[in-house]
Amino acid sequence: MNSQPRLAEYYHAGQKTDKIIPEVKEKMSKHPAGMAVDELSLESVKKELFERHHPSLLPIDIEAHAETVYRILGLKKKHNVLMLGHNYMEPLVFGLSQTEEQGDSLGLSMHAAKTESTYILFNGVPFMAETAKILNPSKTVLVADKTAGCSLADNFGAEEVKSLKAFYPGVPVMIYINSYADAKAECDICCTSANAASIARQMPGDEILFVPDIYFAENLEEELKGIKTVIYPGKGNQQKGAVCEVHERFLLSDLLAVRESFDIPKAHATRVLYAHWECRPEVLQEADFYGSTSQIGRDIAKRVAENQLERAFIASECELTANLAEEFPTVQFWTACSVRCSHMAKVTLHKVLKALEAIDRGGDLSDHEVTLNPEVIERARTPIERMLELSA
Ligand code: SF4
Repeated sequence: MNSQPRLAEYYHAGQKTDKIIPEVKEKMSKHPAGMAVDELSLESVKKELFERHHPSLLPIDIEAHAETVYRILGLKKKHNVLMLGHNYMEPLVFGLSQTEEQGDSLGLSMHAAKTESTYILFNGVPFMAETAKILNPSKTVLVADKTAGCSLADNFGAEEVKSLKAFYPGVPVMIYINSYADAKAECDICCTSANAASIARQMPGDEILFVPDIYFAENLEEELKGIKTVIYPGKGNQQKGAVCEVHERFLLSDLLAVRESFDIPKAHATRVLYAHWECRPEVLQEADFYGSTSQIGRDIAKRVAENQLERAFIASECELTANLAEEFPTVQFWTACSVRCSHMAKVTLHKVLKALEAIDRGGDLSDHEVTLNPEVIERARTPIERMLELSA
């Protein structure tokens, strides 16, 4: 985003509830996005898609993509594939997964750890699928596009962790879950944006070395002021670290413009400006609520249940807002449609279908399968399991 966003850069992702017939409204609240087609046919798929009443899913999209969705759901069922959908997937891809198969990267990996299915197709970027593989190594874990990267994970690997560790011997190293397995394998513990502060408090000593996200580290530093010293790339060392290129785009001036353009005054009772932990510190300070993707979702659900949310803007990936708008149709959502993760956007319906067709052919899965060295799996599992123990 630039510092003076124009109204045209945003779209209204919500819809007025009086336009939704009561039966559909009830259905949406029970089953917000996942397709629940019992008797699979092209017609039943189309009907489900239309009944979703998704605010950014137009009839023309449904007509164009229903057949692909139908073929995907058929192959998913035929091969009993666990299909996980990250919150940042576009609505048609997100809706391929059942409600309990949708969520953030850690929640989905924990779901993958329990599955009996032979195949797990992770609709997200490869580092997420790696975590699923680490937690359930006997399964075949696939992604639609193995080239989908991430500005955080791609720019801070095992070598960077090792060189920073050498600079601070003896300081426990905590790594954000948004990283590759070989980088995790060099660390003491993992964290998510939901549990980082709590885990850091529980780690021994007065200092914690956090990698790789610099804004996240600065936000953590603020949260732990007077409790623990947070060391991170670039703070008293030559390491560059990394940032999420999506959340980095939100500037304080953008949030102030959003408040004015969409009439969301600070600390308003029913109009809320949300920001993700990966945003800049000054953006978090301006937001009415900040947290992880799942914490933002839970706060919205709580306010909706209490009839306390009329309007919301979320400083995060725009498909997250699109999916929340479907889940909470009574809320008027605004989002910046230009702020999309180009890596996540590489996961398309057609690539998902290709991955399933490769399973169906029974042949080579190498274009989609996420493989890891068994030694890396063992070493990366320890920091993940420690995180799960300390979050319990
Ligand atoms: S939104 Fe995209 S760039 Fe940012 S952490 Fe997620 S995958 Fe990486």
